[in-house]
Amino acid sequence: MVSKSDASEPIRTSEIGSGLLAFDAALAKLLSRARRPVKVSQVPLLQAQDRVLAAPVISSMNVPAFDNSAMDGYALNVADFAKPPESFVVIQRIAAGQSGQAIEPGEAARIFTGAPVPDGTNVVVPQEQTQVQGNRVLVNGQLRAGQHIRRAGEDVAADDVVLHAGIRLEPQHLALAASVGVAQVPVYARLRIGVLFTGDELVEPGQALGAGKIYNSNRYALHSLLARVGCDVLDFGVVTDSLMATTEALHKSARACDVIITCGGVSVGEEDWVKQAVTNLGSIDVWRIAMKPGKPLAFGRIGNADFIGLPGNPVSAFVTFLVAVMPFLRQRMGLVARMPRYQLAVAGFDWAGDAKRREFLRVRQEPGESAQAVLALWPNQGSAVVSGLVWADGLVDLEPGTRVKAGDLVRYVSLSDLMR
Ligand code: AMP
Ligand code: MG
Repeated sequence: MVSKSDASEPIRTSEIGSGLLAFDAALAKLLSRARRPVKVSQVPLLQAQDRVLAAPVISSMNVPAFDNSAMDGYALNVADFAKPPESFVVIQRIAAGQSGQAIEPGEAARIFTGAPVPDGTNVVVPQEQTQVQGNRVLVNGQLRAGQHIRRAGEDVAADDVVLHAGIRLEPQHLALAASVGVAQVPVYARLRIGVLFTGDELVEPGQALGAGKIYNSNRYALHSLLARVGCDVLDFGVVTDSLMATTEALHKSARACDVIITCGGVSVGEEDWVKQAVTNLGSIDVWRIAMKPGKPLAFGRIGNADFIGLPGNPVSAFVTFLVAVMPFLRQRMGLVARMPRYQLAVAGFDWAGDAKRREFLRVRQEPGESAQAVLALWPNQGSAVVSGLVWADGLVDLEPGTRVKAGDLVRYVSLSDLMR
């Protein structure tokens, strides 16, 4: 549900370029503007993979629904566990899917995995521990009351919440929903995300690169990141650096999408038209965030669509997406908040630190002398150096003004964790 304050809160145009906003403050602002999704539909389990569950799933039954055998063997009614095991009269055979009659002390049922144990059973003995003689079964070894019996409700009890709202439905969730007999689940509508790229220098891979041009690498990163988030992507292509073209493209995408993400053109240059175009169509805040890589991140609204303007530099766009846009989109699509899984790790490098900006360094875990891994640093931490992202397996997150000496413990988070 969209709360009242969310829906009606105007987005003020802040003074652009006035100082740097602390990263945590920027993230908090961004998250405060992430409306929860409203539209819910029921989908069959086979179509629910990766969708976000909109309401809890409550079991109406016990799982297992009945006491059953965990082994192929014999269900026994043992009269006295203090005595050595005896032989039992086999009075019936129960396969999975069938049900049997009660057994009396000294009686047994031939039984198979998953078959309901008949009333009176207090032990299942695996067939490997038995010998058959005519209509009797002899048991070798000690018996323990209740062994190899799976009890009704030991996995799920009736009225248990088996799945909580706000999770992304993964294979194990679908298995559990199916095991309690649920055929359909309520999920939020998939977010439609419009992407567009600004810059007259951009050329698509596969095309010849003219003088002064570069390939549009952000497009491929962004599509792939959004595929992991699990939303529908509408690509509005590359927009030329002009106010008219930018305004037109944003106007069109706002009508078709829940969220628009642009790359580039939100900085302070004369060719940066995005903020002016968004301001004309709706409202915008541009936050110059005290982070490195990164800095310019824009947020606003055009009609009913949220607008997010990523920086153009590929590493800035990538890292900003992971640490700020990903949490926003998670909340916007109805997922419960989750903290990145930070670990303390040993730095294998020195770093002078940046007095003002929070830094996210591209690093990789290398085997150390002890069991603990040591973090190596990619030598070129420039915000356009994509090869460092490929080499790295994670980021070191440093508060402004943090100096690092080799051997210090630093906060590390893996790229794969940030992409979840
Ligand atoms: P801008 O924010 O538009 O000034 O762009 C900053 C830097 O990022 C410039 O060097 C751009 O050429 C580069 N850049 C912008 N968009 C992309 C893109 N889609 N792929 C790769 N580099 C880009
Ligand atoms: Mg540009």
